[in-house]
Amino acid sequence: MKKLLSVLLAAGMVLSVTACGASSESTALSDDATSETSTQSEAATSEAASGDFTTVTDGVLTMSTNAAFPPYEMTTDTGDFEGIDVEIAGAIADKLGLELQIDDMDFDAALLAVQQGKSDMVMAGVTVTDDRLLVMNFTDSYASGIQSVIVPEDSDIASIDDMQGKLIGTQRGTTGNIYCTDDFGEENVVAYDNGLTAVQALMNGQVDCVVIDNAPAQEFVAANPGLKILDTEYANEDYAIGVNKDNTALLDAINGALAELKADGTVDSIIAKYISADSTAE
Ligand code: GLN
Repeated sequence: MKKLLSVLLAAGMVLSVTACGASSESTALSDDATSETSTQSEAATSEAASGDFTTVTDGVLTMSTNAAFPPYEMTTDTGDFEGIDVEIAGAIADKLGLELQIDDMDFDAALLAVQQGKSDMVMAGVTVTDDRLLVMNFTDSYASGIQSVIVPEDSDIASIDDMQGKLIGTQRGTTGNIYCTDDFGEENVVAYDNGLTAVQALMNGQVDCVVIDNAPAQEFVAANPGLKILDTEYANEDYAIGVNKDNTALLDAINGALAELKADGTVDSIIAKYISADSTAE
């Protein structure tokens, strides 16, 4: 890991890094940067407080995600990433002076990547839970989520209680999977790689319902005639960005950027671009 040094160039800081014998950090000082030390020393004092963070790759903000979770993250026909999380992450990276890199993988792998220091942050419509807080830090919340239940239009499941004894499709590693396993028993819950495969299993009659976040549920139901979403919400949640537990400096920096993006309306307008007010079951 390399320290982002552009704002750490006050002469005193350079000396203290060297004096501490932190050779890996010292070597990260480029010739260019070192030569600018004296001219930047004044400005660096105030910026250093917010810029003293590390990323997996110098100059890059690496986001792990599962790009099968519309409208938060998905791929376009040409293979680019798009969605609410993708745009918010891009705006955060801009504010931090970093280039955004997106690593697409299964949802449970995306959570693990940030814990193992392979990504800087996981942004995948991730719900803040007590168990996850034991293994990663979360930024302030940027959106709310709902666990919804998708059923075939002619289903006899009309409420959450009706799910007892039924076969429930979920996405592996998600809160929907965890809640259903707790409430209805492991033997009644099937974990699929992602939401789309769970919905396909529902279409094929392999499960009786699917529990998934409401925003992707709306998209899957719109794209697959014959399905509907129960009016009853199964759970209400907060989405936030997961950051490695050891990288509190990056957590603070992301929170700072996020606060600005919320205050100036950027976050709201990105969400409004992808989710129309009347499509949510609120
Ligand atoms: N919000 C759910 C969770 O965090 C699902 C997220 C997802 O599938 N990308 O578990």
